[in-house]
Amino acid sequence: MNETTPDTVAPATRPARDSALRAQGREATAPLVQICGLEKTYTTARGALTLFKGLDLEIETGEMVAIVGQSGAGKSTLLHILGALDAPTAGTVLCAGTDVAALSLREASAFRNREIGYVWQFHYLLPEFTALENVAMPLLARGVAKREALAVASNWLKEVGLEDRGEHRPGELSGGEQQRIALARALVNHPRLLLADEPTGDLDEITAGRVFELLERLHLSHGLTSILVTHNLDLAARCTRALRLEGGKLAILAATPQTGVPASRL
Ligand code: ADP
Repeated sequence: MNETTPDTVAPATRPARDSALRAQGREATAPLVQICGLEKTYTTARGALTLFKGLDLEIETGEMVAIVGQSGAGKSTLLHILGALDAPTAGTVLCAGTDVAALSLREASAFRNREIGYVWQFHYLLPEFTALENVAMPLLARGVAKREALAVASNWLKEVGLEDRGEHRPGELSGGEQQRIALARALVNHPRLLLADEPTGDLDEITAGRVFELLERLHLSHGLTSILVTHNLDLAARCTRALRLEGGKLAILAATPQTGVPASRL
């Protein structure tokens, strides 16, 4: 990926990008993520804490976007808002065609189950269940019969290279294996959007590289759109776009126009 400036990475406006796509014989489709004028203020004992003030972002289907930034910049909060786990103070957040701020608690839960795969720095696997059962959990949660859920989960264990660990409990797996299982669990419902918050942050360098490779492979083979929060600039540089969150706004660090994925405007 090239270090570059915003005006060299892509047509800067939607009409310009759309006509560039048409010139390549490709239809312009709506971005999977559209954030416009996002504001987020927490009320704390010490007063108001404003994280975003007028943050805009568009992410096209198929992009793998890294978000870097100092601790406390609001990276996790941004993912939480996209995943309907937190509400914006103002602004529009359209995610997979859904206005996430308008969802009731029940709708938000259904939206997450259907559209969002979430991976955190810590795996949050349920310790009393096997790896296979952990992967099957989101299917069971939406009413899939146990036998079918376990069969689907078993295929996912193969996808992440852990078919021989299905009967292990999380405590009997290495950190890298736990994170592979967490990835399988995140994707078992075939979400369109993968939100990964420091997914390799708790792993040694070699294991982190392997988990990231798996993430890249699954991203491509399942046609995902992925947003990855990371402190690792080397991994960020492998994404189609890397953005830095600073002072409540996003700025382009780098983008890869040659991937065929339009590096859309901020
Ligand atoms: P990052 O992921 O970039 O490290 P976070 O999004 O986790 O940052 O947090 C950004 C800031 O918002 C931090 O200062 C954090 O303490 C604060 N914060 C996060 N969640 C809440 C909350 N529910 N109430 C009040 N402050 C919060």
